[in-house]
Amino acid sequence: MQIKVAKFGGSSLSSAGQFKKVSDIVKSDKNRRYVVPSAPGKRSGNDDKVTDMLYACYDAVAIGKDFEEFFAPIRKRYTDIIEGLKLDLSLEDEFATIEKAFSENCGRDYAASRGEYLSGIILAAYLDFPFIDAAKVIFFDVNGKLDAPHSYQALTEMSHENEYAVIPGFYGSMPDGTIKTFSRGGSDITGSVVARGVDAEIYENWTDVSGFLVTDPRIVEEPQVIETITFKELRELSYMGATVLHEDAIFPVRTAGIPINIRNTNRPSDPGTMIVPPRVGEIRHGSITGIAGKKGFSVFHIEKDMMNQEVGFTRKVLSVFEKHGISFEHLPSGIDTMCIVVNSSVLSGRADMLAKEIKSAASADSVEVITGLSLIAVVGRGMVRSKGMAARLFTAIAKANINIRMIDQGSSELNIIIGVDDYDFKDTVNAIYNEFFG
Ligand code: ASP
Repeated sequence: MQIKVAKFGGSSLSSAGQFKKVSDIVKSDKNRRYVVPSAPGKRSGNDDKVTDMLYACYDAVAIGKDFEEFFAPIRKRYTDIIEGLKLDLSLEDEFATIEKAFSENCGRDYAASRGEYLSGIILAAYLDFPFIDAAKVIFFDVNGKLDAPHSYQALTEMSHENEYAVIPGFYGSMPDGTIKTFSRGGSDITGSVVARGVDAEIYENWTDVSGFLVTDPRIVEEPQVIETITFKELRELSYMGATVLHEDAIFPVRTAGIPINIRNTNRPSDPGTMIVPPRVGEIRHGSITGIAGKKGFSVFHIEKDMMNQEVGFTRKVLSVFEKHGISFEHLPSGIDTMCIVVNSSVLSGRADMLAKEIKSAASADSVEVITGLSLIAVVGRGMVRSKGMAARLFTAIAKANINIRMIDQGSSELNIIIGVDDYDFKDTVNAIYNEFFG
């Protein structure tokens, strides 16, 4: 029998109605054996996420405020779900334990983790699956980093004892037994670790969108959904600002070759996006997979005659950035020129000072700083060794009357980075989208 791990995000579990959808999805495929829930999220735009309410409650209690005043709305979120599902279940004992723990300074991580813990108890009761506390199968080391081998081993053992289970997302335990959470959105990581630990065929990540979009819907109207994307392409796109999945959720499944399927709880028949290892991702030559971009970069444009013959020139330039603890994004170079692209936010008023230091450290002829640059990454395994891709791309941008300030073809051949002025950002993304998907 196949093993599928299904993680459901906060919006998928925000109300009794959403819990019912989740149950229908799980029950419609008997291979969906391990279910990882988030805490209830927002029911509508101006609602609160239970995780945020728990943090606020804990902080209030820590400065002497009344527990019940802040916990009452959290309690109601859960009791409403239990009533809506007509479950014969009481969480009163759990609520009492939480109140006691809060008064004993149990820590913010413990507080936040109760969101998924309680969600998990309800979901397990509703599905009639065993409930496995994540503290018993997800482990952190003394430095607070995921102890992957220990967690995988515990999960493997758990899967031998339980054919089905609900394992809450977001938290695990430290070597001393205290509760620790991942960073926000971390249930994605739990799902990935569980998928790896139980040796799943697939990791389904159920959310409220039907997959990754080719580009940002705030820039292009109703962009298409990406059907298949490789882990590497995803990394390139996420780095440039595309988000759906927690970044750290990729590693555990990627190294084991387990694909991730992003699905929509509200539209379960949509196939969503498959994130796959490189070999599985069928290559359609001449196609691109996605477009992502960010505004607000600065470029240090460095010139020096005969730069290409000077050994150690780049090192001298980069040593200035290193000295000031500034990391750079790209480094396109010409024969006697070099550009260092930096996110403007990390410069904090130091651009001119850096330019001067570079000039003297590398005896450069000139160092000019250009601000207000946007970077756009055009990503696609179908671009590799495809003739005419760059021509199509740059012609589309030229036709839109946009001046390209910088080009950097990633050494992976998987992406081309284009720099344009911030005010051309939106038009550039639209021009590229229309050329390849219009
Ligand atoms: N509930 C946690 C959060 O809001 C973790 C998650 O949903 O993935 O960040």
